[in-house]
Amino acid sequence: MKIGNEEYLIKPLSKRTLDIEMVILMFMVYVTVYLWVFEYISWPIFYIVFHFFYMRFFMGNHERFHSIKSKNWPRLFEIFSEYFALAVTPWDEPYDSIRTKHFIHHATHVRGKKPTQEILQNPHSIYEAGGFWRSLFFCLFFEEAQLIIDIFNKNITKSRWIRLMIYLPLQILFIYNFGWGKYLGVFIAVRLLSSGGWLFFSWFSHTVSYKFGYIKQLKHGKLILFLMGVLNGKYVRDGFFRHASHHAWPSVPPDKLYLLDEAVLRNPDSMPEMIPSTDKIAVN
Ligand SMILES: [Zn+2]
Ligand SMILES: [Zn+2]
Repeated sequence: MKIGNEEYLIKPLSKRTLDIEMVILMFMVYVTVYLWVFEYISWPIFYIVFHFFYMRFFMGNHERFHSIKSKNWPRLFEIFSEYFALAVTPWDEPYDSIRTKHFIHHATHVRGKKPTQEILQNPHSIYEAGGFWRSLFFCLFFEEAQLIIDIFNKNITKSRWIRLMIYLPLQILFIYNFGWGKYLGVFIAVRLLSSGGWLFFSWFSHTVSYKFGYIKQLKHGKLILFLMGVLNGKYVRDGFFRHASHHAWPSVPPDKLYLLDEAVLRNPDSMPEMIPSTDKIAVN
């Protein structure tokens, strides 16, 4: 990629590398859950530690969409590791389906074009168009909303059924052994973090953040960057915050995006164009 006179060659990660990372993160998530279930840690500690691993998982999962698939784990094996089986509702959306929608999201946010807000054509637009409250509602019920959209679009992938068969017995076993209280504690943690992730990643990134424009966003977003770094670590922070650069260079891993942002600050003429996802905010 070329920014001004500067040339950058940054390779995307291989999907297998990220698959392995996801398994390790999932393992840590499960360890955290069982430490709480067997009462080795209290619930506030559980939520803090769970948050840290889970948000890294959220961002790594997005990174897998853009990785090189030539080195890949077999899809069936991947289904065991791709999500947090204990707390998904049986209708949750699998990786391959989210990936397709995410590519539509990228294809509809292109230079010089206003993003489409047609829900059936661009299912991710429900998280970012139509204002904060509407986006919040759909982010909280993102699994249910995407299932309804998929039924309308006749897009129920085989992975949904396979996941249901794998995850449902695990969840029944968990509830049978540890009770509804523990199950709901984990479920609420997952839903809050996922919906918060979607709200920041889609609504905030494509409306509030874009409103300021690329340069102002980088220069004045330092407080948000700092707070997000403390809460989530650098990798997750940059994955969330540097979303405009992600759209310009989707295959660049989050921890390398700052290099391109710094190059843009030195070469403002090469700034990628951003168009907010809402009618209410003027394009700068
Ligand atoms: Zn986006
Ligand atoms: Zn992306």
